[in-house]
Amino acid sequence: MNAAFNSKTEDSPRTSPDVSLEARLEAAARVSAAHFERMLDYLSYLPASDIELVRQAWHYADKAHTNQWRSSGDPYITHPIAVTTICAHWKLDAPALMAALLHDAMEDCGITKEDLADRFGPVVADLVDGLTKLDKLHFNTREESQAESFRKMLLAMAKDVRVILIKLADRTHNMRTMGDMPRSKWGRIASETLEIYAPIAHRLGLNQTYRELQDLSFHYQNPWRYATLEKAITKSRARRHDLVLRVQNEIAAAFDRVNMSVRLAGRESTLYSLYQKMLRHHLTFAQVTDIYGFRIIVPTVTDCYTALGILHQMYKPVPGKFKDHIAIAKSNGYQSLHTMLVGPSGVNIEFQIRTEPMHIVAEAGIAAHWLYKSQGKQESLNTKWLQSLLDIQTETNDATEFWDNVKVDLFPDSIYVFTPKSKIMAMPRGATVVDFAYAIHSNIGHHTVSALINGEPASLRTELKSGDVVQIITDDNATPNPVWLGFVKTGRARSKIRNYLKTAAHSESMVLGETLLTQALREEGIAAIPANDEANQPLWNAVLLKANSPSREDLLTDIGMGRQAAGWVARHFMALLASQGQRPDAVLLSQERFASSSQRSRSTVALDGNSNASVRYAACCRPVPGDAVVAYLGRGDGLHVHNAQCINAKRLQATDSERLVPVEWAEDSSQKLYDSGLSVTIHNQKGVLARVATELSDANVDIRRLEMDDEAAMQTTELRFIVSVHNQQQVEAALRSLRRIPTVVRASRILPLE
Ligand code: MN
Repeated sequence: MNAAFNSKTEDSPRTSPDVSLEARLEAAARVSAAHFERMLDYLSYLPASDIELVRQAWHYADKAHTNQWRSSGDPYITHPIAVTTICAHWKLDAPALMAALLHDAMEDCGITKEDLADRFGPVVADLVDGLTKLDKLHFNTREESQAESFRKMLLAMAKDVRVILIKLADRTHNMRTMGDMPRSKWGRIASETLEIYAPIAHRLGLNQTYRELQDLSFHYQNPWRYATLEKAITKSRARRHDLVLRVQNEIAAAFDRVNMSVRLAGRESTLYSLYQKMLRHHLTFAQVTDIYGFRIIVPTVTDCYTALGILHQMYKPVPGKFKDHIAIAKSNGYQSLHTMLVGPSGVNIEFQIRTEPMHIVAEAGIAAHWLYKSQGKQESLNTKWLQSLLDIQTETNDATEFWDNVKVDLFPDSIYVFTPKSKIMAMPRGATVVDFAYAIHSNIGHHTVSALINGEPASLRTELKSGDVVQIITDDNATPNPVWLGFVKTGRARSKIRNYLKTAAHSESMVLGETLLTQALREEGIAAIPANDEANQPLWNAVLLKANSPSREDLLTDIGMGRQAAGWVARHFMALLASQGQRPDAVLLSQERFASSSQRSRSTVALDGNSNASVRYAACCRPVPGDAVVAYLGRGDGLHVHNAQCINAKRLQATDSERLVPVEWAEDSSQKLYDSGLSVTIHNQKGVLARVATELSDANVDIRRLEMDDEAAMQTTELRFIVSVHNQQQVEAALRSLRRIPTVVRASRILPLE
């Protein structure tokens, strides 16, 4: 472990409170300069011009944090400098180091993103802004699955991996200096580190940071237990010192004999991982510390396997403990050969064998990308993961795009949004409000009418972004809109909507089919559809066979959809009944054929204003209650209701009268709203349109759409409105008041006549 990593960065003297402010600030400036100078030692990998930029960022941050102090009493600026120093160990580039110096400036000092962009350019400003946004997220639920989502959300929200790295450096320094914080805060901060930040470090392969964060968290969560374990381990190390030395010498000698230059390092587990092992496997301290670890770093990949062979000759391997993580790297890029051997005096020894690049990746993970770049020795790259990182980098040369590409590898392309109760939901990128509604529950999805995103009204097709708080507003009467299928992203929403529409269309069509078949049967002198009971089973079977329908429901649905003619089915019923000796009801026959329409109403289709899969109102004439109407049974798409005067209806009557179905308005049909088309011709004068609109609104008529000719030269203009009304009376009243306007030449329904 690098010594500088371990050193407490906040070691400056505390100023005593009785010193005047001026003297305190002077002292602080000296401390700041001293810390900055010390950090410069780690920046030798940067060109002088970059170091100058970093210095400017420090000056700016130093000024911004003037007279701000850490809990320890240190000038606040020592914290950003320490965070930057950690970033310098990863050899991050100048913009990242500048952002690290400025990372608390926006939040604490009233500096805006624009200020930073003006001064240091958009890249630095974006990085600092990204960090400030992450700071606003607080994790406060105990649920394990939520922790996982929160981690992913943090990663997904950061547009640039440098933001995550600086954030981890920030958290690392805060954990190192937590002793200065009030004890009451230790528990919360430590568990947040353990649940969120340590796993993120692990996911990105920053194993050294991962171990340090875990150990520090353990230290502050369980100070007493930590101290006990620490004492015990120091003792046991002293006891086993000779043994470790002996193994070390034997290995060194063995590799010397084959002329392989290896680097050998002892590997010590952190107290946290020892403690976890004891808990998980119910082991005693002696049992867990009885395992020793060595790390062997060799020149080439082939040497890894050679080294393995040498070790297996020296000591007996423990069966089942060999793992080849070189051939199959871990998802965070980690590569090594692992084996366990029985060493001198029967002590188990774990070995990790790897090359130098593998070692860098194993310790620094994604930061290896910068570490490697700074060394400028690409030819020795032999880890695939690192190579792929560098490939992406050379292909894109854009940090944002680079991170986007890496993210795809790290986790599925997801976004993370909140319910109003702060539950985190993972959604695929591009998911909309409707997808979210269905993800909560299909009943919510089916009844969604609108939504608030972060408290603002948003359309249902709005794509969600990570961090959005989404509230769905439902209405029990609302149903899924087929339009949704055009924009939903998730398979779940799609299949739920489809299924709903299919079922709804099916049952609506079946009801219509029943009415139509009853109508047709009555015209043949049969009062009702034969019951679906045992006695009628042979009759139904014969009809279904003839109609090639699998079931009674299917037959009725087909009739309702217009795929099967009701008259044809009725005639088959009649023929079958006649062959059984049944005769048509003569009274019914004459009634049906000669009675007035009001007496037939029992078998006509009632229009209740619900436009659905089996009934739709024709867009050419837009009938409303009160209009005389006719209905045409389309082929496979249900009833089309036309105004009786409509030219299209008349044509259908002439050519396809078989498919006309008697319909009438239901008694309560005026309670619904209907679209109606109005044509209003006006003299071109200022304010006419406004006058027309006012008149319509006074008549309680809502305008849903307006079209007009764009010919300013003409004396008159035709306005075409689609309005929303309850019935014919209301339309006529509105037209009357429009005609009273002097500048209105003509006002009428839009109705294609001859
Ligand atoms: Mn900070």
